Amino acid sequence: IKTIILKNRPQGKPTVSNFEFITEDTQLTINEGEILLEAVYVSVDPYLRGRMSDATSYVPPFELNKPVQSGVVAKVIASKNSHFKEGDFVSGMLSWKTQQVSTGEGLLKVDASKAPLSTYLGVLGMTGLTAYLGLNEIGKPKAGETIVVSGAAGAVGSVVGQIAKILGLNVIGIAGTDEKIEMLKTKFGFDAGINYNTSKDIQADIKKLAANGVDIYFDNVGGPISDAVLYNINQFARIIICGAISTYNSKETPKSMSVQPFLVKKSALMQGFIVSNYAKKFPEAMKQLSSWLAEDKLTYSETIVNGFDNIPNAFIDLFEGKNKGKMIVKI
Ligand code: NDP
Repeated sequence: IKTIILKNRPQGKPTVSNFEFITEDTQLTINEGEILLEAVYVSVDPYLRGRMSDATSYVPPFELNKPVQSGVVAKVIASKNSHFKEGDFVSGMLSWKTQQVSTGEGLLKVDASKAPLSTYLGVLGMTGLTAYLGLNEIGKPKAGETIVVSGAAGAVGSVVGQIAKILGLNVIGIAGTDEKIEMLKTKFGFDAGINYNTSKDIQADIKKLAANGVDIYFDNVGGPISDAVLYNINQFARIIICGAISTYNSKETPKSMSVQPFLVKKSALMQGFIVSNYAKKFPEAMKQLSSWLAEDKLTYSETIVNGFDNIPNAFIDLFEGKNKGKMIVKI
């Protein structure tokens, strides 16, 4: 059995040396009420960077020398719990271990015949729910409006853009490579895209593409990219602060936003979003996402990395933009 623990906390960008692999030659046994799980797919997500630091946040930090955890799809390989049988697949917050024992608490049964198992970590999992609920609950999209999505080619962003298209919006995505911009337009139906690495003036590019201004900004990245978008917002714009990946590895506290006076002038609404606060709406969101998938109105992209040993590298690669769509490790 292999386990990945947090060995030390990163200063700046995480590295493989922050993690340690432990291999044990043991056979796990289960007691009454327990199940034995074998990991099938492990999700790596930008928010795990926050949990590696020792700062208070909406989820507690990982403890040093304890297994790292994230969303995992696992197979039940033995069960003494009447709710689960051998061969079932489950999804939930689990440790980075090839095998582990669970009481089943907090785990959701997932159906491999309805959708590929990996999708329960992406478009039908946490990132899909984030896209759907962040956009609808805070963005309140209306047909004909213009939305800008940053981190557009990632797990959350690619779903936000597609939902906005389904709802009849004009959709502009921002991402880090020309290949990703091409994918936004051809695979996900975005109307336009901006490569923030090659654009000479992101603010001017948005102005050109959003002829009627920006009504909604779905922000996954924060920093100067977001300032460039915000200087293009319309009156009563809605801004969903979903993430700020451009700041997660910075050692200094980000500077205050120069754009604040502009938000006042535009009577804009800016609200932080945390998906777990909307748990009551998960069933409704799942139902809608599943039916759009079944109707081919929604599609998804995944970057699947092979092998348990590659989990830390796959996680670190998120900060280099190596993924298109959801980054997942296949065990
Ligand atoms: P992604 O699949 O979008 O992967 C991360 C992407 O971020 C990379 O592919 C890269 O794409 C981009 N990126 C990396 N570094 C930078 C940078 N310095 N500046 C700009 N872009 C960068 O991850 P997720 O879809 O899982 O998450 C997207 C965001 O949403 C994150 O900020 C995450 O923390 C947040 N989130 C928030 C949730 C909530 O409940 N609040 C839930 C889930 C996610 P590129 O090549 O374009 O640079």
